[in-house]
Amino acid sequence: MPIVPLHGHDALRARLADARARGALPQSLLLHGEGGIGKQRLALWLAQSILCEGDAPPCGACRQCRYTNELTHPDLIWAFPRPKLKDSDPSLDEVKLDLNQATQDRAKAGGLYSPPPGSEGIFVATTRLLVQMASVTPAMARRKVIVVGEADRMSPPLENAEAPAANAFLKLLEEPPADTNIILTSSAPGALLPTIRSRVVALRVAPLGVEAMRGWLQEPLVKEALDKAHLPGSLDERIRLAGGAPGRLLAAQESGAAAEIARKLLEVALSGDRSRLLRTALAQGSSGARGAFTDVLEALTVELHNRSRSAVTQSDERTARNAARAVSLVEESKVMAGGNVSPQLITASLLSELSRVLSS
Ligand SMILES: [Zn+2]
Repeated sequence: MPIVPLHGHDALRARLADARARGALPQSLLLHGEGGIGKQRLALWLAQSILCEGDAPPCGACRQCRYTNELTHPDLIWAFPRPKLKDSDPSLDEVKLDLNQATQDRAKAGGLYSPPPGSEGIFVATTRLLVQMASVTPAMARRKVIVVGEADRMSPPLENAEAPAANAFLKLLEEPPADTNIILTSSAPGALLPTIRSRVVALRVAPLGVEAMRGWLQEPLVKEALDKAHLPGSLDERIRLAGGAPGRLLAAQESGAAAEIARKLLEVALSGDRSRLLRTALAQGSSGARGAFTDVLEALTVELHNRSRSAVTQSDERTARNAARAVSLVEESKVMAGGNVSPQLITASLLSELSRVLSS
């Protein structure tokens, strides 16, 4: 299934298409601009134009376009922040597998994703992979394209052993192989290593205009994702909320989903039904979804604060006091979640404690 098509950025797209047609497209590019405005989506569109073998690239119909739109093109490498792999020195195959899986997850969601948590990054093992991929012959197209999203999160070499990979990447940016294009994106170009910034041609990407936002919001996959997260329903409200950055709505969608789970946990705790408590705890994601679990705990704190506040306005002191005590229980759970305790265990003990405190 193809990812959601690119909307907007018409002027920049025309410029890029023209440069490509004249053979004047810089091989190392940086797309920068506000977070969430679709820089990586634009980079993927440009990658498609570069790989396309149709008459008016990107034609959308040729084999290269189809594979690119499904994010399965072997000559397109899309790197973005990922959790650090447990292994201190993972092999290239391990890094590649992780990146492929993450890319396929994004593809399955139509190319819609919320921003990766701050703990994730583009570590030196990934840099090593990119350098290696740049050196091989294209598998299917005439060229290959490397897209690095949020390039400001590429970690600088932390030890001597990492320096060669970092230097090799700089050399790659400076003098890419003749059949390779590299497109970096960043919403914080000032945070890019100066050695990287000086080696790329920077292009500014503007936020989306109202018409482009409207078009994007009417894409069935987008509508489905945002409706499911109970984001404000009207098109105008969503356009206002996004402020030209579709990614902002996708980030809100994530916190909307966490809030929904938090409300459900609270409802179960208030019911005091022991078997329901246990079932709900078991349904909590496994340790793989640690970031999502932390979001749920965060949302639970917000719910409890709201509960306490509304109890105060109704002069219901007991409920207000219990909700405040419950907040400190959630805080303890957050500490545990940061350690190595499974979300199921934490949820089980938290729910039974919450149930006791809230009903006292
Ligand atoms: Zn094509």
